[in-house]
Amino acid sequence: MKKHVLRNSFSKSYRSFGTNYNVNPGIDAGFMPVLNFRDRTDERFRAFSGEAMAERYDTRHATCMPCAVLCGHKGSYPDGKVRHIPEYETIGLWGGNIGNWDPDIVGVWNDRMNELGLDTISAGGTFAWAMEAAEKGSRPSALAFGKSDNIVALLEDTAHRRGEGAELAEGSRILATKYGGLGYAAQVKGLEIAAYDPRAGWGQGLNYAVANRGGCHLNAYPIGLEVLYGFIPPYSTRSKAAWVDFMEDLFDAVNCTHTCQFTVFGVLLEPLFPKLTPKPLLRIMMTWFPRVAQLLLDWSVLSGQVSAITGRRVTMYGYLRAGRRSHVLERWMNTRMGVRRKDDTLPGRFLAEADTKHARKSVVDLEPMLDAYYRMKGYDADGVPTAGTLAKLGIPT
Ligand code: SF4
Repeated sequence: MKKHVLRNSFSKSYRSFGTNYNVNPGIDAGFMPVLNFRDRTDERFRAFSGEAMAERYDTRHATCMPCAVLCGHKGSYPDGKVRHIPEYETIGLWGGNIGNWDPDIVGVWNDRMNELGLDTISAGGTFAWAMEAAEKGSRPSALAFGKSDNIVALLEDTAHRRGEGAELAEGSRILATKYGGLGYAAQVKGLEIAAYDPRAGWGQGLNYAVANRGGCHLNAYPIGLEVLYGFIPPYSTRSKAAWVDFMEDLFDAVNCTHTCQFTVFGVLLEPLFPKLTPKPLLRIMMTWFPRVAQLLLDWSVLSGQVSAITGRRVTMYGYLRAGRRSHVLERWMNTRMGVRRKDDTLPGRFLAEADTKHARKSVVDLEPMLDAYYRMKGYDADGVPTAGTLAKLGIPT
């Protein structure tokens, strides 16, 4: 596993520059969030790239132990302090998404949010919503795009539920339900989405819409295939359901074994078979015959870990099935609590607002992907796992 991870280009980039390696491709492809996702690209984000930060902060590793990828970094800030370098999600949502173009203060805010126990994605998405709502005149707020001098005070107030913070602590869905503005609340099922604008990769939109936790980027990671690797076309519905379906099962298995998800690309693409398959061929297969392409991939290293530790023989497909069982069980629990197709959706902004500063006009064509995804997952047309699906996975009803 270590051998695969060490030679994989994705893990090499994360090792050198952390998750902020995503910034430059994100600017070019147009997945960077700007002003509460009103826009999806801005050249000023280059100052937040992993490459720029490595230079500015003289970064070194500060990682989980033990780890072969080594994505975490710390660095020396201009005020003389050594801080953790914020992750990609944090710099996306606390940079351009709130109209802030100073990477230094994001490092300060990141530390404070970690100390307060605030999730930087949820807090960032909620603050950005409040800024836009104030601008539109639907909810008064001390927050405003580009105003950074009161952020720390409002974070403290949010953590302690004081003043305006008492409301901000509820998150963007509850606020938007109360004041109006659900169409621009960047959340799904109450969870604020990560810093990838799904108009730049429709599969990422499907992922946010169907993730069991809400708008979570760790449910599956199709943007990696659509943009970072360029294996499948981003502005298309083709093959997206098959990849979200596959990655969900694999990621759930990975999470069950408490292995870091950042190992997955190294594990999948570096064994001999996928490695020797010419990239253009892999690209064609992944786009047109995703199920066949999945047969070319190899995650036996992951299932082998389980065999080695437990002494029980676990095949690659047995491992994947365990992930699927976990995923479908979560979905079934959600549907028993009332979740249905109507909840598997995206904020209106991503479905209707095609014009941004990015050259390509795009909105996510969600419905056909949703139909295909339900079929593949064994759910009915309303998104409920069928009795046959549950029985096949050994989930008692
Ligand atoms: S375990 Fe994962 S998150 Fe932690 S440093 Fe390694 S790659 Fe990064």
